[in-house]
This record gives sequence, structure tokens and C-alpha cells, in this order.
Amino acid sequence: MGPLIGITAGSLSRDQAGGPGGLVEPAPGFFIGAAYVAAVERAGGLAAVLPPGEGAEGAEAWVERLDGLILSGGSDLDPTLYGEEPVPGLGRVDPARDAWEVALARAALACGLPVLGICRGVQVLNVAAGGSLHQDIARALPGAIKHFQDAPRWHPTHSVAVIPGTLLPRVVGGDAGPSEGAVEIRVNSFHHQAVHRLAPSARVSAVARDGVVEAVEFPGHPFALGVQWHPEGTWDRDEPSRRLFAALLAAAGDRAVGRRGLGNGHGGMWG
Ligand code: MN
Repeated sequence: MGPLIGITAGSLSRDQAGGPGGLVEPAPGFFIGAAYVAAVERAGGLAAVLPPGEGAEGAEAWVERLDGLILSGGSDLDPTLYGEEPVPGLGRVDPARDAWEVALARAALACGLPVLGICRGVQVLNVAAGGSLHQDIARALPGAIKHFQDAPRWHPTHSVAVIPGTLLPRVVGGDAGPSEGAVEIRVNSFHHQAVHRLAPSARVSAVARDGVVEAVEFPGHPFALGVQWHPEGTWDRDEPSRRLFAALLAAAGDRAVGRRGLGNGHGGMWG
């Protein structure tokens, strides 16, 4: 059995769940793209979908049981979380999901749980650790390239420079050492927000040509990495995307072995 990987899900209201093409009997529900689950399973993990919960204690309880965590894509973060007022261009906000995922991210960062942030997920990691966001790239950075593509999810539309000497080039397979130039990879792009002020404990590991931060990592942590693109949309045809999930699973596997080695793993708890 592979490592247990939690994947955060969003909420669906009764109306969203019961809209055209929705459930037969409209009722509140949860949403996660099937591609996240497929990517984890293909990489050898057990995928557990995490509905939005409540409170730091609930988050810590999940983090204790998981071997790895994916913070998935979704709506905008409430700018109150980084001390700003909302500006025009801010999109839909889900305060309950915000609070839950920030608590999960803080618990994961505090206890060394391997975590991969995807799109909204990299933003959650940065905000949870004390950073801020551009609420709307087009308004904040007038010279920016198009970061919300109209092409299919599997199609990479822009390039990012992977910064030498960080974790990310080792993960995605660029062999360039610190003395070599940046490796460029092509990524898909479905975001209108981006990291602005970087969290003190984080460093940037990829940027787009317009300077928009595309990946962030936490050097003091075994594996805490966030990417602004959607590798779950491209893992079946793109090697760097597949390697992102493989790296999460490898780190989660190390954690699972460590837990069992201490006699406090799942078997010990339930056996
Ligand atoms: Mn982008």
C-alpha cells in the first residue's frame, strides 16, 4: 500500500450541486477534479479527499494521519488573510475553505508533512506562512503575459524559468547545478492571482518571463513546494509534471517509513 495523500476539496452549495447537469436531488457537496486523484494513484499513492473542515485541531488531526498533502486549485483567497482590503478584480472567495486550508498548511509546514501546493495551493502556502498575493495580476502588473489560458488544460501555454540551486530543478529533472543557467519548462496557466510579498521562510523557485512568481518552496522543510500551474492536467504527457507527483510520493514514502520505524504508524495505532 502506498503513502496516504490527502487532497483538499472545495465546497459546492445546494444550488451549485443541483444546477443544470448537477445531482438529481440538489444537496450540498464537495468538489475535486478527478485528475488530482488519478495523478496520485498513478504515482503509487492512496488518495484521500479532504472536505473542508474546521479549526486548527481538526487540521492537526488530519496532518498526523497523512503521509503527504496536496492543496488543490480553487477560488481566490480572502485578502483579509494578508492584511489587505479587497480591490476590484478580486474574484469569488470561500472563507470556510480559506480558514481550513490555511490551518492545514500551517500544520503541514510546522510538522514536516510533505506538501504540494497547486495553483491556489501555492498561494495558500505563501499566505499561511505570512506572505501576500496580487489580488488580480492584470491590474497589479499591467505588462504581464496571459496567465489564464483559453487553451485546453493539457496544453502548456507559457514558459517558466526554474531557478538553479533550488529544490525544483532536481524535482522536474533539469540537471543544471547552481553554476548553470536556469532551466525553462512549459506550463499550463489558469490563475489571475499570484504571489506578491514572499513569506519569510519561503524562496522563489520559478518565475515567468514577466516576473510573476510561478513556484515557491520552503528550504527548512523536507518537501514543501507550490507551483502556480496545474501538473495534474498534464502529468500523463509531460515528464516534469509527472515528476512533481513522483517527488511528493517519494517524500511521503520516507515519512511513512519513519513513522512505522518509530512504532507509531497506522498499524501501531489500530493494531
Ligand atoms: Mn502562469
